[in-house]
Amino acid sequence: MPQPFPMLSRTMWFVTLKNPDEILAPGMTAYVNVILAERKNVLVVPNAALRYKPTEMSPKGTGDTQKAKKERKEPNTGVLYVFENGEPKAIKVTTGISDNRFTEIVSDELKAGDKIILEESKAFCKSSRSRWSNGKTLLMNEVIQITQLTKNYYTDAGEVCVLKGVDMTIQSGEFVAIMGPSGSGKSTFMNILGCLDKATAGEYFLNQTNTSSLSKNDLATLRNTVIGFVFQGFNLLPRKSLIDNVALPLVYAEVSLHERRERAKMVLKSVGLESFGTYLPTHISGGQQQRVAIARALVNHPKLILADEPTGNLDTKTSQEIMQLFSDLNEKEGITVVLVTHEPDIAEYAKRLVNFVDGKIQHDGPTARMMEKAQ
Ligand code: ADP
Ligand code: MG
Repeated sequence: MPQPFPMLSRTMWFVTLKNPDEILAPGMTAYVNVILAERKNVLVVPNAALRYKPTEMSPKGTGDTQKAKKERKEPNTGVLYVFENGEPKAIKVTTGISDNRFTEIVSDELKAGDKIILEESKAFCKSSRSRWSNGKTLLMNEVIQITQLTKNYYTDAGEVCVLKGVDMTIQSGEFVAIMGPSGSGKSTFMNILGCLDKATAGEYFLNQTNTSSLSKNDLATLRNTVIGFVFQGFNLLPRKSLIDNVALPLVYAEVSLHERRERAKMVLKSVGLESFGTYLPTHISGGQQQRVAIARALVNHPKLILADEPTGNLDTKTSQEIMQLFSDLNEKEGITVVLVTHEPDIAEYAKRLVNFVDGKIQHDGPTARMMEKAQ
């Protein structure tokens, strides 16, 4: 039987913690994550899916029916809407544990490929008939959904508009290469995708969560759980062993030292560097350093890997090896990969090619390899 949701608001909690350096002083506010239950490899849906109900449409109305309204109120049940034959269809589900972002679904009404609706575009809520045929709905398998994104920088010389209205949707499991001339806004775009920078205007949904509505803390949590980064310059800590470098993201995720090291060793093994764990980054080649950086990106089991010119500092042969690694992660592990490159040969490892020119997408389509495959 599923456990009831923990009702923290109704319970008084006492938390004991060590404070040897006296960083915490009386009167300060501290945030504590209380883990009440943990389950791995379960089906989860974003909480927004359980809150969603179709907007009323006159005269008949497709909004929540009386039955759906009643079912939402039953304990451990919820109502989801899937997009079927151009219409929202209500599905009653049994829910398990939940955190503030996702809820476990323990019943088996959902099928692979079901398109779960998270919200409707405001623009389409006003219109009537065409809403479902043309309307934007957020579907479960979209890792990235970006609408009319702009980014301006303010410099001494005035305002510089670097991204000028970018629309892009990336589905789970895609492998996307971004190309374009220097200064066309690729890195700016990647930094926004990675929540390292904020857009000036536009909407960015990452893993079905509207990033603009999140606090800094929630954004950091989302970033750490969904995204792994790989940079051109590897960005490893020079005085730390490879194991410690790889384990670093887990420190922020508050994983115990023992588990951090075990998980770091496992991912180092998966990138072929099992026997180098105690080495320092300076003791290995550039290609090996980039493998370590990829291992570090993988240690949190990310859904999405973002890589800005990951082969920019590597020779051709090593670049090919690194690209093969990205390709395997995409093909075998189903990880979504988005990478920036200047080299057409590198871009050909991807399945989709997006070309940026002067802050806009000039072209978006399959790579030559994929087009050949389709013929
Ligand atoms: P790319 O990665 O395609 O080479 P970038 O996204 O790095 O391009 O830069 C796009 C433009 O934005 C460039 O003209 C760059 O000078 C400008 N730019 C990038 N970051 C800043 C910043 N922090 N302040 C002002 N201008 C910036
Ligand atoms: Mg760049």
